Formats: sequence, structure tokens, C-alpha cells
Amino acid sequence: MALVKCPDCGTNVSDRAPACVNCGCPISSASDVAALKTPLTTTQGTAKRLKAHSAISMTLLVVSLLWVFMASSSPNPEPSIIAPAVCFLSLVWLIVTRIRIWWHHG
Ligand SMILES: [Zn+2]
Repeated sequence: MALVKCPDCGTNVSDRAPACVNCGCPISSASDVAALKTPLTTTQGTAKRLKAHSAISMTLLVVSLLWVFMASSSPNPEPSIIAPAVCFLSLVWLIVTRIRIWWHHG
């Protein structure tokens, strides 16, 4: 059993005590907090990253579709592979991200 200083009032309190005996400030060891928070943070971080991927690929898909539309409707359409290629890649990226989100939740 070790004594820790209360973060609020500086009283020496047992690290097993749920709260400071002097002021009632909750005492918790750093390792307990880390053990509770780490898996949750990792899962949330992955989900957030996948959602960001999903949002970026969707935006890219919409932009490239507009690009294809504008390129084909211009009076002098220039034959370009870039716009359809970006469109196709963003669609593949979006599908892959969707599968990864489904995989993480399933
Ligand atoms: Zn205290």
C-alpha cells in the first residue's frame, strides 16, 4: 500500500482509498485510468479515422463526378482519362472504407 499526495489539498492518502480523507477529492492510480481508457480510445480513434476516410472519399467522388460532367458538357471536350480515373479511384476508396467500417462494427 503506497501513499499518494491528494491533487487538491496535498494530504497523504492511501492509493487504495477511493477518495481523499481530508477533502473528498477522488483518488485513482494512473495505471487504473490508463487501463480503462486505452482500449476505448483506440476503438474510437479507428472509427474516427475510418469516418474521415469515408467523408474524404465521398467528397472526392462528388467533385470528380462534377468534373466528368463539366468536361463532357464543355463545347470543346478534351479527351482526358484523369477525371474518370479519379472518379473510379474515389469510388473504390469509398467502398473499401465502407467495408472496413462494417468489418470493425461486425
Ligand atoms: Zn484532499
